[in-house]
Amino acid sequence: MARHYRGFDGHVPAYAGKQMTSRQIIHNPYRQAHYVISAHDLKQLPQDTGLEVAFAGRSNAGKSSAINTLTDQKSLARTSKTPGRTQQIVIFDIDEQRRIADLPGYGYAKVPERLKAHWRHVMQIYFNQRTSLRGVVLVMDIRHPLRPFDEQMLSWCESSGVSCHVLLTKADKLKRGPAQATLLKVRKSLPSGATAQVFSAKSRAGLADLILQLNSWYAIEASAINERPESSKGSKSG
Ligand code: GDP
Repeated sequence: MARHYRGFDGHVPAYAGKQMTSRQIIHNPYRQAHYVISAHDLKQLPQDTGLEVAFAGRSNAGKSSAINTLTDQKSLARTSKTPGRTQQIVIFDIDEQRRIADLPGYGYAKVPERLKAHWRHVMQIYFNQRTSLRGVVLVMDIRHPLRPFDEQMLSWCESSGVSCHVLLTKADKLKRGPAQATLLKVRKSLPSGATAQVFSAKSRAGLADLILQLNSWYAIEASAINERPESSKGSKSG
C-alpha cells in the first residue's frame, strides 16, 4: 500500500477504559457507540478530524450484524434493504474523536446502474479525501468472498493508502476446516498490507480479533484480549 496513515495530526486522547486481562474482554469501547447522522452526501459528514473507521460490504454480507455484535447493541446498525437507505453513510460515534462510518453497500441486481455509478463516484472522493479515515473493515460472507464489489473496495483502499481488514463473516455456516481454507485463500489474494480474519455475528467468534484490529487503528491500547469471548459468559463487564 502506498500510505497507511494519512494526514492525522495525532491529537487523540488515550482511551480511558483500556484495561484488559489475558483471558477476557474487560472493556469493549465499542459498546458505547451511538448513532450520529445518516449522511446523504459527503458534505453532511462530521468534521474530518480524529479517527474514522469505515465498514463496507455488499448488501446481505452481514455488515449490520457485525456492527451490532461489535457494539453489543441489537439494532444499532439497522438491517434495511431499501435502496434509498443504502445510499447513506451512517455515522456512529465511539467518543469525541473516534467514529464508525457505515458505508452503503450494493450487491442486489435490482439497484439501478445509475445509482451504482453515483455511489462509486461518491466513494472514490470519500476514500481519496477523507483525512481521518484510518482503515476499512470490508465485510464478506465467507461463502461468497471477493466478489467484484469487494475487489473494487480493495483497489480503492490500495490506491488511496487506506488500510483494509477483511471480515469473513457467517463463519458459523462453515465447518472449521473449510472456513480456515477460505481464510488462507483470501489472504493470499489480498493486496499487501491488507489483513483478514474469520468472524461470526451469531457465535461471536473472531470478535476479540476485530476489537484488537480496531483498537490499533483507533490508537486504543490493550495489552491482551480473550480469544474466545463466547466462552467467558458471566465474566464480561464494561
Ligand atoms: P448487511 O446487509 O450486510 O447489513 O447484512 P445483515 O447484517 O443484515 O445480514 C444479512 C443476513 O445474514 C441476515 O439474515 C442476518 O441474520 C444473517 N447473518 C449476518 N451475520 C451472520 C452470521 O454471522 N451468522 C449467520 N448464521 N447469519 C448471519
